[in-house]
Amino acid sequence: MLNIVLFGPPGAGKGTQSERLIQKYGLVHLSTGDIFRANIKGETELGKLAKSYMDQGALVPDEVTINMLRSEVLKHPEANGFIFDGFPRTNAQAVALDAFLSELNTTISIMLALEVEEAELRTRLLLRGQNSGRPDDVNPEIIQKRIDVYNNETKPVKDFYQGQNKFVSINGIGEIDEISTRLYQAIDALK
Ligand code: AMP
Repeated sequence: MLNIVLFGPPGAGKGTQSERLIQKYGLVHLSTGDIFRANIKGETELGKLAKSYMDQGALVPDEVTINMLRSEVLKHPEANGFIFDGFPRTNAQAVALDAFLSELNTTISIMLALEVEEAELRTRLLLRGQNSGRPDDVNPEIIQKRIDVYNNETKPVKDFYQGQNKFVSINGIGEIDEISTRLYQAIDALK
């Protein structure tokens, strides 16, 4: 199985690049942000809970997020592999993901970290907010909060994968095609 953690701050291009990777490698795309937004749209209990955190730019609690992710993985027993997009975002989530995948006799193959500087992220997110319909992309204070949460809580997850020799840094600046090529090269080097 090819299991990829696509990592990076908000606005790094994880969603855009995931779309390409799932097509090229035949993977199941699990974006925790997308799953939460689908629950908000469906007005589920999970959606109501997630919204209260997402609207503030804060992380949804680990236990809730981990349980949700686990049940999504179990919905795809025939998968060739997964792209985890926006997960793990804390060390506790990374530890839980490892434990869970080992129960399924598989493991993370690689963490691909899209690197984009902060000023560029702010510009991209504000631009996205004009047509994404995402409330958390509109308010500059919430955008900054999400970037701060990334720096404080999520960035350390890199070390977790670095410790397993699975971390690969990818320049996230440039044309979308160019960035995809960088990702393909990193994945194909695994074979
Ligand atoms: P995203 O679509 O990845 O930018 O996520 C949007 C929001 O969903 C985040 O700001 C968090 O509030 C929440 N979220 C998404 N993934 C996670 C996660 N792995 N852990 C906690 N909260 C998450």
